[in-house]
Amino acid sequence: MRITFYGGAQEVGRASTLLDDGKRNLLLDCGIKLGEKTEYPLLHEDELRRINSITVSHAHLDHSGYLPHVYSKRARPKIFLTKPTRDLMGVLLADYYRIHHGEREQRKLFSSKDVDGVMKDAVMTEYHEPFDAGFRTTFYSAGHIMGSAMTMVEHEGRKILFSGDICMRKTRVLDPCERGIEADTLIMESTYGAKTDIVPSFKDSYQKMIGIINETLNNGGHVIIPSFAVGRAQEVLLALDDYMRSGALPPTKIFIDGMIDKAMKIYRHNAIYANDDIKRRILMSEDDPFKSPNFHHPRTKTREDVLKEPCIIVTTSGMLTGGPVLFYLEKLGGDPRNSLIFVGYQADGTPGSHIMAGNRTLKLRDREIELGLRVESVRLTGHADFNELVQFAKSVKGLKRIFLMHGEKSDLKDALEGEYEVVIPRVLETYSA
Ligand SMILES: [Zn+2]
Ligand SMILES: [Zn+2]
Repeated sequence: MRITFYGGAQEVGRASTLLDDGKRNLLLDCGIKLGEKTEYPLLHEDELRRINSITVSHAHLDHSGYLPHVYSKRARPKIFLTKPTRDLMGVLLADYYRIHHGEREQRKLFSSKDVDGVMKDAVMTEYHEPFDAGFRTTFYSAGHIMGSAMTMVEHEGRKILFSGDICMRKTRVLDPCERGIEADTLIMESTYGAKTDIVPSFKDSYQKMIGIINETLNNGGHVIIPSFAVGRAQEVLLALDDYMRSGALPPTKIFIDGMIDKAMKIYRHNAIYANDDIKRRILMSEDDPFKSPNFHHPRTKTREDVLKEPCIIVTTSGMLTGGPVLFYLEKLGGDPRNSLIFVGYQADGTPGSHIMAGNRTLKLRDREIELGLRVESVRLTGHADFNELVQFAKSVKGLKRIFLMHGEKSDLKDALEGEYEVVIPRVLETYSA
């Protein structure tokens, strides 16, 4: 078996790793890298057409966004994923198409028909039920966002486990990733691969967030929380609702704006994939956390109701690259009584990263916004941190070899070498497994 990294090696984004035994092949994830300029896996057209099967670990575009491009090359690989991944991917691919189809370069790359083709052909599978993706393949729960999966591929007595993105902590909505799986080879994400990447507990992070929100509301201000539409937003919304119910936050309207609401509905429809607390609340009581009376939507396009009185706004996009958050910053960003709270990763070069670095001028395509509001950051991640990644690798039974990917900086090699053979591959490198 040969393993080739076509993207996601020493970088976060465009995850795509090919397993090939000469007769059959399977692509693990098929993502793009969004940034100032979109980057794609380095697969040639003839290589694309040769792909037999693709597994999608989860819906985020850095793992799924290249699928319509593959279809546009008239390739028809079999695509395997879980049901929540398919549903959430539908929302994200449609948005990816909408945002980019106006840009000339993108329009040539794929059409909405290609997005439809991917959605129609994708085959849904369940956790723990082996399926034939050329090789015997099984999904395990990854805890990162709803439907996220680790992928086990078996080949001539060997077992290769691809982690995808993993979370080791129980969250408001999900159980942590499974542990103690048997595999001789592990292809592991390493988003938090630096020794200093230690993430505080959710409790500490939420405590900080509650403090900032209370101070802002007491001053008569608005709280703006930019968020990724899928994953973080649902976690933050359910947490805010809990704190409001417990009295830690005063009764205040929580406005949901942008694509978050669509993803919220998909989470609700797929609640069977949530943790037991959520399932119990939905099934055994009238207390459906996804339909809390604390949640509101702007009533009009001009959003006067949101601007009128102090409230909390959870909206896209998470890195201030577009979406309704820009409208809110334009209207509310000058007032020092208001707060902006980042809850997610800010990629280099994005407006969010400039603001985080202390810059207070938000440069948009056609205008500039001067920010006078309070800016804070709370670390709420859906990824395992440095110590947890080490723990996860050590939990794998019979493990001999580790490939580290989906990370920019890695001290994990030092932490794991000796006990295992550790490889940090580069893009386009091939290894035998
Ligand atoms: Zn992800
Ligand atoms: Zn990712």
